[in-house]
Amino acid sequence: MYLVGVDLGGTNIATALMDDKGNIIARRKTDTEAGKGPEKVMQNMIDCIYDVLGDKGIDSIRGIGLGIPGLVNPPKGICLFAGNLGWGRNIPVIDRFAAEFKVPVFMDNDVRVATLGEKHFGAGRGVDNLICITLGTGVGSGIIIDGKLYRGSTWNAGEIGHTTVFKDGLLCNCGNRGCLELYVSATGIARRAREYIQSGNFTLMAELVGHDLSKITSRTVSEACDLGDRLAIYIMEETAEILGIAVANYVDILNPELVIIGGGVSLVGDKLLVPLRRFVEQRAMRDLGKMVRIVRAELGDESGMVGAGALVMENMGLI
Ligand SMILES: [Zn+2]
Repeated sequence: MYLVGVDLGGTNIATALMDDKGNIIARRKTDTEAGKGPEKVMQNMIDCIYDVLGDKGIDSIRGIGLGIPGLVNPPKGICLFAGNLGWGRNIPVIDRFAAEFKVPVFMDNDVRVATLGEKHFGAGRGVDNLICITLGTGVGSGIIIDGKLYRGSTWNAGEIGHTTVFKDGLLCNCGNRGCLELYVSATGIARRAREYIQSGNFTLMAELVGHDLSKITSRTVSEACDLGDRLAIYIMEETAEILGIAVANYVDILNPELVIIGGGVSLVGDKLLVPLRRFVEQRAMRDLGKMVRIVRAELGDESGMVGAGALVMENMGLI
């Protein structure tokens, strides 16, 4: 028997056909076309599922899992709000897929689903208490307590990106000020780099983008670090410090064994993880900060779709 996992992103829809051991049999990717509205996005997801099934009939599928980027209510099968997709209030999701495929369909937030993927098939295998933080366009996290995903009272536990790290910080689109994701997401890192350059700091980063500062990304910062650029190294260190405050708070509250760092920014690897480990050890309570391991996600950009498959397995008692 097979499972289908779908990772819905603001730009792409990634779909995997998996066996019940978590092995990917086939994968497909298509454009989300978020600007065309929820109906079109869900039709694209359905087309992508048919595409990944190939000549395998729907009878060979035990269930479909969906990772949705926003606030969700999985029991009701609705997406409450998804800013990156431009989805407003209460979009019904599961009904559409259940009617089309007539198999069990499950959904959850994309980062929570990616956390399930890492827990069962990635860096978190065999670990019962962990946090998985993704640093992408935004910042999110999932929490595994005693082997189970912790969902909170209204299914949205883990919104670390909107916890406050600066009392009078920048205004966030969530309405709060000084949210973590404004500083350590890919977009936040790039914005800080631009601001430092505009205030007159010398850096190779300006040359790397042909002096067009709008082209600076977190990857530019990473490349400049490799070239020994002092400002880029400072920005990476500062990123680790700000993220370290949030991670140390998490560590003190939940006492996890493992913190997994995923998302596009995590690809910089040790340039971020080495100072991050140092700041967490400094700020978390002594033994908690010393014993927690901080590692990179293993599944890369597949954690979402593999996790969506794991969501089906979890709901069907297969894992
Ligand atoms: Zn916020």
